[in-house]
Amino acid sequence: MHIPFCSHKCHFCDFAAFAGLEAREPEYFQVLAREITTRLTDFQKENEAEIVLDTLFVGGGTPGLARIDELVFMKSTLEQFCTLSPDCETSLETTPHAITEAKAFDWLQLGINRLSIGIESFQDSELKAMGRDHSRSQALAGIEAAVRAGHQNISLDFMYGLPEQTLASFKDTLREAVRLAEYLPIQHISAYGLEIAVNAPLLLRYPRDSKAYVDEDGFVAMFETLVETLEEAGFKQYEVSNFAREGFESRHNITYWKNEPYFAFGVGAHRYVNGVRSANTKSFNVYMRDFDEGSTREAIDHRGEEMETLMLALRMRRGLDLEDFQKRFQKDLLSLKAKEIAILKKEGLVQLSDTHLQITRKGLTVMNSIIGKLLTG
Ligand code: SF4
Repeated sequence: MHIPFCSHKCHFCDFAAFAGLEAREPEYFQVLAREITTRLTDFQKENEAEIVLDTLFVGGGTPGLARIDELVFMKSTLEQFCTLSPDCETSLETTPHAITEAKAFDWLQLGINRLSIGIESFQDSELKAMGRDHSRSQALAGIEAAVRAGHQNISLDFMYGLPEQTLASFKDTLREAVRLAEYLPIQHISAYGLEIAVNAPLLLRYPRDSKAYVDEDGFVAMFETLVETLEEAGFKQYEVSNFAREGFESRHNITYWKNEPYFAFGVGAHRYVNGVRSANTKSFNVYMRDFDEGSTREAIDHRGEEMETLMLALRMRRGLDLEDFQKRFQKDLLSLKAKEIAILKKEGLVQLSDTHLQITRKGLTVMNSIIGKLLTG
């Protein structure tokens, strides 16, 4: 469920996220409820199966800014059509400075059992350079408020490859995250390399060739430091950019990487239902006029599904389940790609367990080229 409102548009951001539209929030939630009702009614007409959700992700934007009654309204709209499984992983995404203890408590009452907080960096100079509107002290205060309210499953998001960021400053940020995780219930950490939207305002201050960014070797060094630091601190890397304490992997994200179906609602939302990937418009005004206007649809054929399944599964450290793959696509990858796998194994880029084909830590930095070699013709 996508809630697109933000207190400020970060200077690199390409999401369907908008600042200064708070006045239109009530109207947005009405359209969102209409979309949920229409799409799920149509789904139920075509498919007689009961809808049971294993996960619910309220993302954005900054859903942490939404009023609690609006979130209650959205959840109850959804529950008219779906049952949330008893252990449904229910996440809410927020910026740290949108958290207050009272709000965080309300989220718990609503059933939010996983809080994902966008910290990005603990260095004020980097936050300012990338055009965020929060500071290190606000980040710490937000995390502490969530903990005081009773949240026990907190995920922190970071970014690397930021302007003005050095390997040493990134190490400092990671050290701070690890220090907090020693005594706070931080169970999960994500860290993504900075991706800058085309025409992003950040490029005016820091063009792509600016010396304020680390070079390619520096970027790889940051990634390697990330993996080493978090694994040493007991966070297992279960996907290229995601780390979790035992049992706290994001079930929601694993659904994507296993190439399984999911619904999605809201401006810019993408879904995968009955073999069709579809996406809503990213334009706020178009969505508000008609949630389906400008949406795109792509039916994924068997071959496309096979390629996607292979690519997504290899992002996960546990890798591709070879038996599942054979059952799903009637293909024995080990025989079909015996030569390529033998070479990759010799180079230390992949490894085989009894059940899975995995990309090694060394292979992670050249993951795309490995996947290219494993795609079947
Ligand atoms: S808070 Fe997140 S979604 Fe909102 S503008 Fe910044 S990066 Fe984009």
